[in-house]
Amino acid sequence: MSRVSAVRFSHFLPSLLLLLAGLSAAYLKDLNVFFTSLFNVLPTLVLLLGGAYCAVYRRQRELFLMITVYIVYFLLDTQTDFYRDNGRVRADAAVVFHLCCLLLPLLFSIYALWQEKTHLFRDFIARCAVLLALGSVALALEQRYPQGLLDWLAEIRWPMLHGTWMSLIQLAYPMFLVGFVTLAAQYWYQPRPMHAAQLVGVLGLFWMLPQTFILPFTLNIMCSQVMLMIAAGVAHEAYQMAFRDELTGLPGRRALNERMQRLGRNYVLAMTDVDHFKRFNDTHGHDVGDQVLRLVASKLSKVNGGGRAYRYGGEEFAVVFAGKTLDECMPHLEEIREIVAHYDIKLRNADRPNDDQQGRQRRADSGASSVSVTVSIGVAERQAEQRTPEEVLKSADQALYAAKGAGRNCVVAAGQNRRGAVRMERAAG
Ligand code: GH3
Ligand code: MG
Ligand code: MG
Repeated sequence: MSRVSAVRFSHFLPSLLLLLAGLSAAYLKDLNVFFTSLFNVLPTLVLLLGGAYCAVYRRQRELFLMITVYIVYFLLDTQTDFYRDNGRVRADAAVVFHLCCLLLPLLFSIYALWQEKTHLFRDFIARCAVLLALGSVALALEQRYPQGLLDWLAEIRWPMLHGTWMSLIQLAYPMFLVGFVTLAAQYWYQPRPMHAAQLVGVLGLFWMLPQTFILPFTLNIMCSQVMLMIAAGVAHEAYQMAFRDELTGLPGRRALNERMQRLGRNYVLAMTDVDHFKRFNDTHGHDVGDQVLRLVASKLSKVNGGGRAYRYGGEEFAVVFAGKTLDECMPHLEEIREIVAHYDIKLRNADRPNDDQQGRQRRADSGASSVSVTVSIGVAERQAEQRTPEEVLKSADQALYAAKGAGRNCVVAAGQNRRGAVRMERAAG
């Protein structure tokens, strides 16, 4: 599967909705007591619930992202509370705020890019050590050289690049930019919901900081939203693990079982099986076999006529047509069978170049070998006497068996006799 096809808007959707909700809530004026109390406890509530949730799933990276956001919330909230109560900022407000502007994007990016690879306990200690080291160095400098540190932070190093719109210290901008670019690259190389959440999260934090002392509750709201984005990312990935097949990206068996419980009275189920796949694996190896499964899955996922493909297991796929009749579905299944049979799969060599363009060129030059596979499909429409979708699936399975008996590379409907099977020409070769 190419990277572009693995990028999904759905990865960004929960975080973008949370970001939008946060932006709208931050601009609310004249909040009533309920909302004021809610926003006051929200960050702590989200940290406790979200943190427990991450801990249950053993997601330390996400836990530390939340902790980082919460610490910054806590430090700045102390300042904004003082400002609200006294009408002036605390003596250390500037240095604390500037340090947060610098360290938040730094720590957020470090934790976002740092995947759990070692023993969990060691990983936990290492993450704590980074947090403590950075925190204690900042605290020590702030205690020992308050003015020197403030001057260093607030210095305008690149006057040419300084815009009047910049309300944060200049150093914060490259920090956020580097964080954003590396997180974008991380998403590009590994398009996962969590990486999308981190990317949107960093944008939310970037928007939040300049508003901290201007819009009341911006801090509480946006910190909560970013922590919720992280928690939603964990939930999204947990859902994918349970319901999606990792190899093909199609929904898996569990998703199919769930879908089958919600089918109405009329539907059609199809079982698809790759022909002679064991032989194919034996000849070309398991990796090429996996490549073929991805290809068949990607063709099946594009089936027309309202069909939805699932990986049933191994080299078998189920297609569900809800609210359809057999006559409506047959042409679409036939089309898919034909597309798969006529598709030349170019075998990739182990030393293939990273660049797709170069790879294509090299294959064209060397006339790299190509192979093809076929699929057999058994289809069954729900009959009045069939009470459960499992019975219909069984009929589709029997039809698949008949399709294999009829010579493979064909679509057979349940109840159709062998001679009447829609037998198609085998794919070339
Ligand atoms: P038929 O035409 O009758 O379906 O023959 P077949 O060889 O496809 O049937 P069989 O069910 O005996 O073989 C299925 C093979 O699919 C066995 C296994 O090696 C292969 N297989 C199952 N899951 C995977 C997978 O995830 N990746 C790869 N590469 N192979 C798989
Ligand atoms: Mg099989
Ligand atoms: Mg097979």
